[in-house]
Amino acid sequence: MQSLSVAVDMAGCPNRCRHCWLGNHRNGKMTTQELCDIARQFSAYVQELTVHSWWREPDYRDDYRELWALEQELSSPGMAKRFELLSIWRLARDESYASWAANLEPKVCQISFFGMEESTDWGIRRKGAFQDNMLATQRLLEVGIAPRWQLFLTKRNLDDLDEFLRLVYKLDLHKHGEVFIGGISPEGAGYEIEGLRIEENDLALIPKELIDICREGTDLLGQPEYVLLEELMQDNSPPNLTANVHCISINADYDAYPNIAEPTSWWRLGNLKSNGVDAIIKTYLDETTPGMKANREIPISMLARKYGNPNSKKLYHKDDLISRWMHEWGVEQKSII
Ligand code: SF4
Repeated sequence: MQSLSVAVDMAGCPNRCRHCWLGNHRNGKMTTQELCDIARQFSAYVQELTVHSWWREPDYRDDYRELWALEQELSSPGMAKRFELLSIWRLARDESYASWAANLEPKVCQISFFGMEESTDWGIRRKGAFQDNMLATQRLLEVGIAPRWQLFLTKRNLDDLDEFLRLVYKLDLHKHGEVFIGGISPEGAGYEIEGLRIEENDLALIPKELIDICREGTDLLGQPEYVLLEELMQDNSPPNLTANVHCISINADYDAYPNIAEPTSWWRLGNLKSNGVDAIIKTYLDETTPGMKANREIPISMLARKYGNPNSKKLYHKDDLISRWMHEWGVEQKSII
């Protein structure tokens, strides 16, 4: 491989968001020595290695500054990378964090909402999460980082939208930052809230003014399942889900996953400790996990016939609907994996 990223879930995440496609992996306490050992093992296989000390919440550990320095040291020159993500939990607790982050790129930070306070605390599954979002927004604005509010819609929070719009206006967030309505991938924890997925008829309940100030309007919500089904029933190609970059994620139990879909047993590459890095890399390159094989072999039309619902008006982006069917396929295989 020319390049590979390795993301190590050293500390986990303070949240258990209901939309999280990564699911509910255990929070660990991996040492910096363990991170160094993992990086060393993978570095023998690639020309350009990028090492991340986190997989879920960036900068969650108190030694986040040292970890960022270590990521740069362990990665190939110039390959360490920051994203438009910071720890909202830390922004609300560590007064020096925002100004530290402001010296790095990028100058944008995403913050997730499920509506107003009760709905957002419900969605992030942590009391106080909404108030953390508010304080984080204030601290980001103070240091010149643009907050990008991501609003997840479910049937449970449609009544919140007028108040949410007023809040955006009150903070002038549509001018100083950005707001967008995100789609929920029906994988990991996200699959468990499929019963709350909004439907075609719910679109009329979203205030037009909110749609107008959202970056892509409601485009990311996609189309009703019954509409997409007509097209996908005719598609005989396999899903061929891919990621932008080669990436292997290692959880706190040393289980390794490709960064293609939800980290479940049918995608699992093996265990770095018990199977070894050779086997993990070979499984990754040969694409031999049940999920990876299905991703290259099962025709979408077959998934559509088996798992599609012609009466469903639930809204999906096309890739998300295919991911749901892959999840349903995987759950059925679970007993034999
Ligand atoms: S979505 Fe992000 S913040 Fe929420 S549980 Fe998953 S990793 Fe943590």
